[in-house]
Amino acid sequence: MTRVKTAVGIAGCVLTIASAAAAQQPQPAAPQGPPPLTMKQLKPDVWVGLGGAGGNSTIVIGKTSVIVVDAKQTEAGAKDLLAEIAKITPKPVGTVLLTHSDGDHVNGLVAYPAGVKVIAHENNKKELEAALAAGGRGAPPADRLPTLVVTKTKETMTIDGVKFELYHWAPAHTSGDLMVYLPDRKIAATGDIVVTNRADDNPNIHQEKHGSTEGWLTDVKGLISLNADTYVTGHGDLLTKADLQRKLNATTERREKIAAMIKQGKSLEEIKAALPDAPAPGAVARGAAAPAGGRAGAPPPVTYVDIAYAELKR
Ligand SMILES: [Zn+2]
Repeated sequence: MTRVKTAVGIAGCVLTIASAAAAQQPQPAAPQGPPPLTMKQLKPDVWVGLGGAGGNSTIVIGKTSVIVVDAKQTEAGAKDLLAEIAKITPKPVGTVLLTHSDGDHVNGLVAYPAGVKVIAHENNKKELEAALAAGGRGAPPADRLPTLVVTKTKETMTIDGVKFELYHWAPAHTSGDLMVYLPDRKIAATGDIVVTNRADDNPNIHQEKHGSTEGWLTDVKGLISLNADTYVTGHGDLLTKADLQRKLNATTERREKIAAMIKQGKSLEEIKAALPDAPAPGAVARGAAAPAGGRAGAPPPVTYVDIAYAELKR
């Protein structure tokens, strides 16, 4: 799939085997252990922490501090990542950029140093504040909320000597997606707009966080327009521009099929039957909006077709 693919493929296999084993157990299984954290160096000063507890993290070594994109899911998962960073550099983590508000990318903030700068899209912050107000599930502690919010389509900033371009062309996975591009390194972090940990190309769109299938197309076109040669996905493998183009083509075609069937007067159920979602690893019934791996006993999740149908019928 890509020249930079390495041990993550193995991690993915481990997850699949573990999930298959869990599926044979009569009781709802305890949450599966995450794939092991795999550190990979992309440039002299850029690493990725693939897998572990939560989404992939990008690590950039600045002049005096470290900048991390996405914090991992748990305190333990974040500590694993921070321990790996400490093996690379004695510099402290000074800044965390968040690609979106999902717990598997933000809750690890609890393990980061007090006073860490946290940069996110303004809608991400709103979603985190809403999660905190609702009891704190899926949110980092109140003292680790974003300290700087991005409001524009594109913002360029230099953080500790490293140039960043931050993009939010449209809501896609959530309303607060932020794509992080390192123009001098030709590396872009996509967040969960692009993942490889599911069996098909259907994007994960969080309807409850006002994600958008139309916005997804816009954002992936934007990501492809960057002069990047490596894309750090939200979960799974690193991808190339050609990989993103293939996903864009597949998703565009699927959405056009849904639109055409709506025009023909087909019902949602008929469209879903004609365009089924492939089951993801470990999922009992998992669709576009389910949490990674799905959850045994959960109601059938909202799928990509459900969301695209609702958007296209508007
Ligand atoms: Zn995620």
